Amino acid sequence: MSDTKYRIKTACPQCGCSAAAVMTEEEIKKRYGDAPNIHMTCDACQAEYEANMAEACPEWDKACQMAKSNT
Ligand SMILES: [Zn+2]
Repeated sequence: MSDTKYRIKTACPQCGCSAAAVMTEEEIKKRYGDAPNIHMTCDACQAEYEANMAEACPEWDKACQMAKSNT
């Protein structure tokens, strides 16, 4: 298991407040699995929204594609 850290960036569609999280591969898999969309709650206005993983974290998306093509 690699300890590469991925930076996930999202923006709330309601108030525009951006959120960022740094997670390891293990943490992302545990929390989001292989879902293409991630569920977020805005810290500022508490709105719940979905973000596209490919946009929120291109590095993670790239790593997933590589993992898929290897299997
Ligand atoms: Zn918000």
